[in-house]
Amino acid sequence: MTTSDDDTGIMDTLVVFEFPIMHSLSEAQIRGAACVWCSSSLAPGEGVGFGGFTDWRPHTCAPCKLLRGAVLTTYEAWDAHQHGCVSCQFAACLGDPLCAQADGHRTALLEARTAAGKPLPTCAACKQEIRVIEEAFVPLAWFGESGPYRSFLHAGGCTFVGPITVHRGGADGGS
Ligand SMILES: [Zn+2]
Ligand SMILES: [Zn+2]
Ligand SMILES: [Zn+2]
Repeated sequence: MTTSDDDTGIMDTLVVFEFPIMHSLSEAQIRGAACVWCSSSLAPGEGVGFGGFTDWRPHTCAPCKLLRGAVLTTYEAWDAHQHGCVSCQFAACLGDPLCAQADGHRTALLEARTAAGKPLPTCAACKQEIRVIEEAFVPLAWFGESGPYRSFLHAGGCTFVGPITVHRGGADGGS
């Protein structure tokens, strides 16, 4: 197995945003004999490691790394668009439809999530699953007490609990 610098960046971000809940991992997943996401067996040297030491050597298989990486990159692309697009910023406040480019980002993100076997996104304010066909929503990257989050918010202010105040920003400085 070789790990390039490029891999290191992706793997670090995957740990922050996609790594499974620790106590859900099996003994094989903890020592790197099975993929942390799909549980497929990995022979020694197979897959990509998250780093670690002694008995803590979690790995992902190559397909899961690609699938989970796509979840990250599609989110980043949409969030960057949301930051830079005045039309989408108004839409997020008013609950209006997003621009055509944002529609493309949202579709790509949802396809990536489905391919990775992830559930429907949930709204950071009301915690409800977002019914993606009927409801407008936008990405919301923010810093919480225990680290950065990449979440979603119903557009137009969440009607379930009203608008919330968050500090925008993230691992990339939010700009
Ligand atoms: Zn896998
Ligand atoms: Zn836009
Ligand atoms: Zn909501």
